[in-house]
Amino acid sequence: MWDVLIIGSGVCGAATARALARYDLSIAVLEKGSDVCYGASRGNSAMVHGGYDPDPGTNKAIFNVLGNRMFDDLCAELKVPFERSGTMVIATNEEEMEEVRRLHECGLRNEVETLVLDRPALLERWPDMGKGVVGALFCPSGGMVCPYTLVIAMCENAARNGVEFFLNCEAEKVERVEDFWRVTAKDGKVFDTRVVVNCAGTCADVFNNQVSEDRFKIVPRFGSHLVMDREFIPWVDTTITQTPTKLASGGHTKGMGIMPSVDGTVILGTDAEDYTDPDDVATTRRSIDRIVDYFKTFWKHLPISAVYPEFPVSGVITAYGGLRPHPDRDDFIIGEAPDAANFFNAAGIESPGLTAGPAIGEHLGKLIAERLSAKKKADYKPGREVLPTFRTMTDEEKSRAIAKNSDYARIVCRCEQVTEAEIRDAIRRPVGARTVSAVKMRTRAGMGRCQGGFCQSRVVEILCEELGLTPLEVTQSGGESFILTGSCCEHSFPEADEEEKA
Ligand SMILES: Cc1cc2nc3c(=O)[nH]c(=O)nc-3n(C[C@H](O)[C@H](O)[C@H](O)COP(=O)(O)OP(=O)(O)OC[C@H]3O[C@@H](n4cnc5c(N)ncnc54)[C@H](O)[C@@H]3O)c2cc1C
Repeated sequence: MWDVLIIGSGVCGAATARALARYDLSIAVLEKGSDVCYGASRGNSAMVHGGYDPDPGTNKAIFNVLGNRMFDDLCAELKVPFERSGTMVIATNEEEMEEVRRLHECGLRNEVETLVLDRPALLERWPDMGKGVVGALFCPSGGMVCPYTLVIAMCENAARNGVEFFLNCEAEKVERVEDFWRVTAKDGKVFDTRVVVNCAGTCADVFNNQVSEDRFKIVPRFGSHLVMDREFIPWVDTTITQTPTKLASGGHTKGMGIMPSVDGTVILGTDAEDYTDPDDVATTRRSIDRIVDYFKTFWKHLPISAVYPEFPVSGVITAYGGLRPHPDRDDFIIGEAPDAANFFNAAGIESPGLTAGPAIGEHLGKLIAERLSAKKKADYKPGREVLPTFRTMTDEEKSRAIAKNSDYARIVCRCEQVTEAEIRDAIRRPVGARTVSAVKMRTRAGMGRCQGGFCQSRVVEILCEELGLTPLEVTQSGGESFILTGSCCEHSFPEADEEEKA
């Protein structure tokens, strides 16, 4: 019998697991993906929102503001890149300026500092701002984080403190048995637990509606992004978005924009389209065209247009997407279901959920620990151990790192300067990488200009060496996503040592 079972390892599941790992409790996390962080927390815009725009008093406003304030300490503790680079909403006419003033008022009520800048004030700091921009709202506490590094780091920390992760484990049914919950996975595994925490993203309605009459529906709302090469980052020092976009389906998105990623690339996005499939995150020609078309016009407003007058489409190196879990209640659904004791939801966590997630996890962790009268562990470890990133080292640091660990001397991913040392470390750490995609998420190997064209085969080899696999067994991201389908010549791969595999 588990004390707590968490369904889903996105930012909410990971933050809840980490918060509860401080207590003397047995905790399991079920994740249907082949790695942790398989949902919206992987495919978002990476913005840490200030919290000026959600309606005051809502869960969105409360947890956005609380979450934002946690990021400096949280990211320092877990060695996650985070920058308070600010966020800006620009206005190109008086109507949009009205919206800027409304957002400022809303920010005051949420106790979030924002500055309304007219054009002269704007030009003082951004002299190359486009001619059509009449003013802007600037939020200094906004920032950028690497979302999957954050979530993976929280999972690693939770695992270090005893939380068990079950990957490729899709929860299918939650039911009450006597005074506990029984969670049955698709493969037949059964987990009995005192408490369930439903952090299943776009599938969270399924589990809530199995146990509670207080039903809700989640609509998967797709958004995609384009990623631009490193050469553009010197001209993008803050996030710049348009004013919020009204959607045909009701509600709004925060507006299309340009973001300086903490990894040195530039992100463009995002759009919004309602889907029915809760797992369909494939980028489409339609969504890519939508963003490209948008930026052909929006580009001229941005300071970078002083250097690149037209949107340089050839600078785009890849695209990715994610599904927002949009609830029919238009607010985050957080807490115990009213008619299902010990069943807790973190559901309908659409934007600004990445920002709010750490605070949601702390909140749920506290509630559940109190409910279970749990005692704090004496030996809780707050941080995580990860090898320093070669790419960001000085030459002197690189020499020292190589002298200590010769695997640092072998660059595997040339675009992102990822070394063999970092790849082996990513596989060996708690909740370690088991697929090519999991290595990529932890190290950036394959995220550069060539998108893995050069390094993928070496990553496969290292996975084989570390895990005792044959190359035919290695997958891109679990399931049937094999990289190689067989031999095309006489050569056959040696069988992996069975003992090593076990
Ligand atoms: C396009 C886009 C842009 C966004 N931009 C921002 C932004 O800039 N800033 C911001 O703050 N927020 C942003 N968000 C919102 C943010 O990403 C989400 O609110 C947040 O990631 C939701 O986290 P979660 O843990 O609730 O869900 P998820 O991250 O979706 O995690 C749910 C997990 O549950 C797993 N799961 C589902 N069903 C099962 C099952 N049956 N069994 C086991 N596991 C299961 C999934 O595989 C997944 O790993 C954006 C979202 C999108 C899609």
